[in-house]
Amino acid sequence: MSGYDSFSRFLVDFYKDYIPIKAVNPDFGGEGETERAKFLESLLRKIGVDEIKHYDVPDKRVKGGIRPNIIAYIYGRNTDKTFWIIGHMDVVPEGDKSLWLYDPWSANISGDYIYGRGTEDDGQGIATGLLVLKMLRDYDIMPNINLGIAFVSDEEAGSNYGAKYLAFNTDVFKQSDEILIPDAGYPEGDKIEVAEKHILWLKIKALGKQAHASTPEKGINAHRLNMEFVLSVYNKIHDRFNKYNELFDPPVTTCEPTKKEKNIDNINTIPGVDTVYMDCRILTDYNPKEVLDFIREEAYNFSLERGCKIDVEVVSLDIAPKPTDPNSEFVRNFIKSLKEIRNIEARPIGIGGGTVAKYFREKGIPTIVWMTTEGTAHEPNERVKISNIINDARVIFYYLTSKKV
Ligand SMILES: [Zn+2]
Repeated sequence: MSGYDSFSRFLVDFYKDYIPIKAVNPDFGGEGETERAKFLESLLRKIGVDEIKHYDVPDKRVKGGIRPNIIAYIYGRNTDKTFWIIGHMDVVPEGDKSLWLYDPWSANISGDYIYGRGTEDDGQGIATGLLVLKMLRDYDIMPNINLGIAFVSDEEAGSNYGAKYLAFNTDVFKQSDEILIPDAGYPEGDKIEVAEKHILWLKIKALGKQAHASTPEKGINAHRLNMEFVLSVYNKIHDRFNKYNELFDPPVTTCEPTKKEKNIDNINTIPGVDTVYMDCRILTDYNPKEVLDFIREEAYNFSLERGCKIDVEVVSLDIAPKPTDPNSEFVRNFIKSLKEIRNIEARPIGIGGGTVAKYFREKGIPTIVWMTTEGTAHEPNERVKISNIINDARVIFYYLTSKKV
């Protein structure tokens, strides 16, 4: 069998065993990752890695009482430095089963595709790591630096039992290491995520005065005034924080009104209270506190002018760490490997979404998020392309060994 066929066979066999071992995150009522971790460990032993370690975190909610995190190494010529591939084992539930073409909890092959919940998110990251290990063993080549694989728990619900725990409570990852997180990407594989925006979530509550809707002069319409306030603040934020940073996609600060709380049950009452939420993704060119102060100042002025008190409450604020340097040797060499193996001109980008990369960047470890994917995570008919995994693994193999397969 040629390389490509044997890799493809390996991936199909892997998925057939892996997908039926359900590992829904316990936050969504699932069983957790324990059984999957056992299966992956036996597979790692079969491939023949140099070292396996466990960093399990107690969690009473699951059978067995732990959330597993497995670390495996193949040593390199230089053992002081490790290139990491981090994949998460947990998945989200299948959602509405009637929308699926096939059983979401078995791997269904159709041409180049494998369907099933978790095939892409993050079975693709796990499979990519396993395939690179297998390539190193099949060709019996020692990588230039260590290859480290981390199969982690709990990505779908905050990573407190997984990547976040490993980053802040263990010394697994060193500042001199390099981290790849294959858990998001683009269909052409031509964008490498090196930065994320600050994420600010706000609750905006207007306090007016309830009255009969036929006599609005007797009340203060909190709903109308809140809409006015939010729209005016929406326009002003985009005028004031108008920097354009082309590293990011989209290249601007965004601040969107999103959730709306129910105010009153009936149509003929003027609501005295009205609550909406805003989701702001702020370029790293700004300090998010500046944006918050600006919104609070606007709220204060609006309250004075319009006689309707506006409260601005921070629901959450995620400060983005310093981006991974897009001109670092790591990123430049990774881009070069993509060009060499697949003739792709890749470029580093920043995104508005939040990934576990932020924990590692916070610790000063250069971290990229990349894989080649159509992006079907959490959807019905989630699927992965076998050829994408093989091509991604070939790029990583080249990055580690300067050899082509
Ligand atoms: Zn994921």
